Amino acid sequence: MHRNTFINAPQLLNRCFQHQKEPRLFFAGQISGVEGYLESAASGLIVGIQIVLQQQTESFFPFPETCALGALSTHITNTHSKNFQPMNINFGLFPPLGKKMKKAARKAAYGERALADLDTWLQECQKRSPDC
Ligand SMILES: Cc1cc2nc3c(=O)[nH]c(=O)nc-3n(C[C@H](O)[C@H](O)[C@H](O)COP(=O)(O)OP(=O)(O)OC[C@H]3O[C@@H](n4cnc5c(N)ncnc54)[C@H](O)[C@@H]3O)c2cc1C
Repeated sequence: MHRNTFINAPQLLNRCFQHQKEPRLFFAGQISGVEGYLESAASGLIVGIQIVLQQQTESFFPFPETCALGALSTHITNTHSKNFQPMNINFGLFPPLGKKMKKAARKAAYGERALADLDTWLQECQKRSPDC
């Protein structure tokens, strides 16, 4: 058990870990409301990518919510703000697959959907920002 120091992400941040009212401010790591080593490092990756994209295109491209980073950022910024608690990445955060399948096949299906959506996301970023 440990105690995190974190802000109320659903009240304060958008899906790019940017402060809603003070857009010059971004939060990454446990202070943003993510939990864990991997998630903290990943949120820093999101922030870095989003700052570059914002500078180059003047708009944001949140990660698709079907991929792990997108599912986590969507969760922490859209969940109830009352009693908000930090969250790890887990399959429960992903949007449902929309079709029944055996448990063993489900995780691979989440992965395949995430890779396909990330590909589309990347192409969109590259259209707007060729250096991306
Ligand atoms: C006991 C314990 C066990 C854990 N076990 C696990 C585990 O098994 N697996 C897992 O995934 N996660 C675990 N975690 C959670 C994980 O450690 C954190 O989620 C992660 O380290 C957060 O990374 P961070 O970079 O956001 O913050 P931190 O690692 O807390 O880094 C913040 C840094 O900012 C510095 N700092 C603070 N204030 C200032 C200031 N004013 N000016 C300059 N620097 C400042 C601090 O000194 C610190 O170096 C554990 C945490 C604890 C406490």
